[in-house]
Amino acid sequence: MQRIIFLTLFLLVCTINSFAQVTAIKAGKLVVPETGTTLTNQIILVEGSRIKAVGADVQIPAGAKIIDLSKSTVLPGLFACHEHMAFLIRRQGPERGSLFFYDLTHTNAERAIHGVVNARDMLASGFTTIRDVGNDANYVATDLRRAIDQGLIPGPTIINSGRIIAPFGGQYFLNPERRELGAPEYFFADTRDEMRKAIRENIHFGARVIKIVVDDQRYIYSVDDIRFMVAEAAAAGLKLAAHCVTEAGARNAAEAGVTSIEHGFEMSDEVLAIAKKNNVVLVGTDFTEKAWLAYEMPAELAKRFHDRSVDRLKRAYKIGVTMAFGSDLIFWASDETRGTWTMSQIDSLVEAGIPPRDILLEMTTNAAQLLGVEKTRGAIKPGLFADIVATPENPLDNINTLKQVNFVMKNGKVFKQ
Ligand SMILES: [Zn+2]
Repeated sequence: MQRIIFLTLFLLVCTINSFAQVTAIKAGKLVVPETGTTLTNQIILVEGSRIKAVGADVQIPAGAKIIDLSKSTVLPGLFACHEHMAFLIRRQGPERGSLFFYDLTHTNAERAIHGVVNARDMLASGFTTIRDVGNDANYVATDLRRAIDQGLIPGPTIINSGRIIAPFGGQYFLNPERRELGAPEYFFADTRDEMRKAIRENIHFGARVIKIVVDDQRYIYSVDDIRFMVAEAAAAGLKLAAHCVTEAGARNAAEAGVTSIEHGFEMSDEVLAIAKKNNVVLVGTDFTEKAWLAYEMPAELAKRFHDRSVDRLKRAYKIGVTMAFGSDLIFWASDETRGTWTMSQIDSLVEAGIPPRDILLEMTTNAAQLLGVEKTRGAIKPGLFADIVATPENPLDNINTLKQVNFVMKNGKVFKQ
C-alpha cells in the first residue's frame, strides 16, 4: 500500500514538473555584461524558475506565455552587496541620527516591518539579489530571507550576515554601567574563542556570510585575527566581509585576504594594490553628495566625504581592484524608496569616470562571484534562475536608464511589468 502511495506521489510530481509554465520573453536588445555586448531580437525561454534557452532562433513552444520586451533592453537582475534591510535611521526621529540611540528607541518588530518594505522596494528597482550586512535587529534578515523564499512577501534573494562581529564596543561608545547594550547588534569578540563562537552562533542562526568590523575602535583586528576568522568562516563554506574605514584597518584586511573590504574610504594606492594582489573585492558604498545631504550631513562635510569617495573610486579603478556595487543607504527621504536611493548611487561611479560596462559588471558578474552565487544567478544563461530586468534604453549607452527599470522577474515570476 505504502509503495503504491509513494509511486502515485512520484508520478504526480513528475507530471507537475513536466507542465511547469513556460514563458517566452522577446528581448529587443539583450545586454551581456560579461562580454560587454548587446545582442538583438533574442528569445529567452523560462520554465518554472529557471532559464531554459536563450537565442535568436529559439522556438517558442505552443502554449507559452509571451512577454513582449521588443522595445526594451533586457539584462540580468541587479545586485546590491552592502545593504541593511532592517535599518532605517532618521535625524528627525528619537535616535537623532545616532546608531546607538536608534537601537534603543526602535523595536525589532518595527524594524522587521521596515525590512519588508525595503525588500519589496529593492526588488521594484531591479535588485533581484542583495547582501544584507547586519545591523539587522536580531536576525530579521534571516526571517526576511525565509519569508521571501517561501513566497510570503516579495523581495530579492538575500545573502545575510546576521550579527556583526567586532572588537569590544563594536561601533558604539558604551557606558560602563550599560555594557550589555551592544547586543543584539554586535558580537563583541576579542579572543580567538570568542571569534570562533561568534561565527558559529551566526551560522547557526542563519548567516550566509560573516561580517566583521575591523576598525571602529582605537584597538583594531590584527592580520592574524582576521586570518583566523576568514579560516573559521571558510571551514563552514562562508565568505567574510570586513568593514574598514581607516588605512590601517583596510591594510590588515587586505593582507589577511578577506573576501571583501566594505567602504575602504582611506585606502592608499599601496593598500589597493595589496587588495588586488589578494583578490579582495572592494564594496565602496560611495554616497552621492545628495545622499549625504539627505542624511543631513553639514554641506562642507558632505562634499568632503563625497570627494574622498570619488578619488578612491578613481584610484581603485585605475589600479584594477575588482569592485562590486553596494550602497549602505539606511534612510528614506524626499519621496524616494530604499530602491531608488540605492540605484541613485551609480552617480558616484559615473562621476569617477567608471564606464557603463564596468558599472554593470559591478552590479552583476562581479557581485554574483562575491556572493558565491555565480553558478545560479547574475547572468541570462540556460540553467540559471530567471532573474531578469528591463530598461527603456541600453545601459551601455546610458547607464542612467537603470533608474527606470520597467520590468522585473525573479525566479521566473514577474514582479513588475
Ligand atoms: Zn553598512
